[in-house]
Amino acid sequence: MSRNLNYEIEVLSKIVSVNTDAESKLGYCECASIIAEEAGKLGLSVSIHDSVELANDNKHRPNVIAKLDVGSDHTVSLVTHYDIVPAGAGWSSNPFKLKVVDGKAYGRGAADDKGAIAAALGALRLVGEKAKINVILIASPDEEVGGEFGVGYLVNHVRVECDEAVILDASPEFVSIGASGVVNGWIRVKGVQGHAGYPHKAVNPIYGMTRLIEGLEDFSNLRSTRLSKIDSPPNSPIKKVWGRFSITMVRSGVKSNVIPGDAEACFDMRTLPDENPMEAVEELKAYFLSLTKNLGLNAEIHGIRISSGYYTKPDHEFVLRFKKSVSKIYGCEVPIAAELGGNDGKFFALKGIPVVSFGCIGPDTNFHGVDEFVHLKHMALVRDVLLEYISTYP
Ligand SMILES: [Zn+2]
Repeated sequence: MSRNLNYEIEVLSKIVSVNTDAESKLGYCECASIIAEEAGKLGLSVSIHDSVELANDNKHRPNVIAKLDVGSDHTVSLVTHYDIVPAGAGWSSNPFKLKVVDGKAYGRGAADDKGAIAAALGALRLVGEKAKINVILIASPDEEVGGEFGVGYLVNHVRVECDEAVILDASPEFVSIGASGVVNGWIRVKGVQGHAGYPHKAVNPIYGMTRLIEGLEDFSNLRSTRLSKIDSPPNSPIKKVWGRFSITMVRSGVKSNVIPGDAEACFDMRTLPDENPMEAVEELKAYFLSLTKNLGLNAEIHGIRISSGYYTKPDHEFVLRFKKSVSKIYGCEVPIAAELGGNDGKFFALKGIPVVSFGCIGPDTNFHGVDEFVHLKHMALVRDVLLEYISTYP
């Protein structure tokens, strides 16, 4: 299978050239119309679903759907996203001009997740009469900011229906059958505000917060002993997916000569794909209560947000079929594991639709970092795996 990648690189170059930063969303419409046009050229039936009204902030969020209907009773969704995180400073070349060198294509979003859009279009271009299963290609915005108005909108409001979903926003090194849940929130330590010249009249919450954070490092170690039944991605420090807890922001104070009245810290807890996140929250709350009592602190947890993890059983026939296609193209067995992060698969999983994740985001591709790139060989692998999958169903 030595098909060239000219088509995929050309598509990738067009969509990388549009800055689709998920914060400003300014490039969304232009990028979505390029993807829609490319899908239309392949004869797919294209529709655009903009969640602008639901979001209610006047920012357009066009979701592109491109359908291939071969009259099968079975439909697979191929799920990608075209939004990106900001390029940031320090790139060796323009992040919005695709640069191909030594088997790598550099540009913001080349790996995460525009390479997958190019690879999926490439597979649909080549499949022709051989397609055995209906395909819905989704290119959504807002994945980097939670997906509620992207894939969440398509699943919950447009009510896109399918029998299975492949989230093409993952690593090519393994077939992922699940993702960790995310719990985040804030911790507040209350003190008594005062003049820095009179510290004896104030209670400085920053010292209390420091001791509390030290105590929570022990909680982080405790959570790391909670293990999933599902393997971690290859080369992870722990064989099974483990619980993680991190303090990610600390803030307090307004002026150098004022002892602040309170201090806040943000936490991010990653739960196991096969764990009820409420149990992890209860574990955190109990630990926090006893810790603050021991330290004699006036403290509370607030603003907790919970997004469940999910997993598809490793022996689900969809997982086995997809894994078979990957193994065939790779020429060897490919491992099954779960993601340490989260992804848009949660929206399908909540509807009971089985999900696997796969894609061209190799571990070394600097995704979200400076000089992001996609390995051309991974883009070709993803294209060929999809081609194999679509043309061999069941
Ligand atoms: Zn992504």
